[in-house]
Amino acid sequence: MDLKDSPHEAAFRAEARAFLEGHAPAEPMPQYHKEFVGDEGLVERHREWQQKLHAHGWGALTWPKEYGGRGLGPIEQIIWNQELARAGLGLSLYMVGIGMAGPTLIAHGSDVQKQRHLEPILRAEQGICQLFSEPGAGSDLASLATRALRDGDEWVVSGQKTWCSGATWADYGILLARTDPAAPKRKGISFFLVDMKTPGIEVRPLRQMTGDAHFNEVFLTEVRIPDSNRIGPEGAGWPVAQTTLMNERMAMAGADGLFVWEELREHARENLGRIDGATRDELAKLYAWTRTLEMLNARVITKLGRGEMPAAESSVMKLAMVRTVSLGSELGLHMLGPEGLLRTGTWQQQWLFSPAFHLAGGSDEVQKNLAAERVLGLPPEPGAVASDTPFEDLPRS
Ligand SMILES: Cc1cc2nc3c(=O)[nH]c(=O)nc-3n(C[C@H](O)[C@H](O)[C@H](O)COP(=O)(O)OP(=O)(O)OC[C@H]3O[C@@H](n4cnc5c(N)ncnc54)[C@H](O)[C@@H]3O)c2cc1C
Repeated sequence: MDLKDSPHEAAFRAEARAFLEGHAPAEPMPQYHKEFVGDEGLVERHREWQQKLHAHGWGALTWPKEYGGRGLGPIEQIIWNQELARAGLGLSLYMVGIGMAGPTLIAHGSDVQKQRHLEPILRAEQGICQLFSEPGAGSDLASLATRALRDGDEWVVSGQKTWCSGATWADYGILLARTDPAAPKRKGISFFLVDMKTPGIEVRPLRQMTGDAHFNEVFLTEVRIPDSNRIGPEGAGWPVAQTTLMNERMAMAGADGLFVWEELREHARENLGRIDGATRDELAKLYAWTRTLEMLNARVITKLGRGEMPAAESSVMKLAMVRTVSLGSELGLHMLGPEGLLRTGTWQQQWLFSPAFHLAGGSDEVQKNLAAERVLGLPPEPGAVASDTPFEDLPRS
């Protein structure tokens, strides 16, 4: 493993850092820790930032040049995410469009679909949300039950989605729906792009214990979607969705500066009188986790640099990342003492939000299953093996 950037990586990092030092917005750009139901101002700030990035050639690093991207690879994406986190910026609200829907359209969309959506996504003129998860289909996404029935040149879609970040303001949703219940569960799904203003779509914000409503339930009642909005062949939406999910992991990789070790250390230094031995131990533990995370990042970058794809590494990294965030926010809260009871600061918000990190992008238990199979070579869990049973004959709760 290379612990230092290669000359090429170092040059790219310096370029990214210089750009951010000269152009980063002065105001913070929260994504997770902000009440943004109806906060048009925040969406607008993210839109302006994406437009500035695009104008300076930083809008979509991994998109091919012919579609307005820079044609760069995952290493540069990780370095860019690390530099964004370092600059306190984090992920963009437009990430679902740039990092997930765009690459999916590039891989599976028709020429007309690419023409209609790619440029507007890049310019943040079309915001996208992800309508995949359902109350009965999260970790086991292929169990989704939202139904799409063909009616001439249209599909009539009914069902319920949940956890949908950004559905209150997005212009389009990428949607998975079951078009053939008689097929095995992974084979009867199709992938659509749906205009969020279509009649029959109802978005209900879900308020979390942070007080914010980051995500939403989305109810679809006989929503009519033109067949021209289907991405990829009918019934072959599962591999299209895999492209989306693979790109989601890449778009988020390295963006783990959700809590900042230096801030905790500085706080401890300024309040030495209040730091007892047990807290020092916890700080040392957190430092070890932070360094471990850096090394896991370096390991992924090294592997990518050698032309290999990290597989189990990303599961292990996700586990380490959420563990570090939970530990960090808990320690921050502990060091604040009674002051921490006031639910206003970053550490309080992070502590209240941290359970969500253990689920988002693949839960801890699912990551552990993956690591057990791919690192330890343990057999797959019973029932995880793909079955040919038609979806409609599967037992469902
Ligand atoms: C912040 C956040 C943003 C999100 N944004 C979106 C979005 O925009 N669009 C979208 O479609 N989805 C989104 N999601 C949903 C996310 O993908 C799901 O939370 C995730 O897939 C887990 O599904 P679930 O929450 O339904 O949990 P479930 O799958 O119901 O799991 C419940 C519990 O059971 C455990 N479990 C499940 N299966 C296994 C197993 N095989 N072995 C062991 N344990 C298991 C899980 O670890 C978990 O603890 C978001 C989630 C979060 C937290």
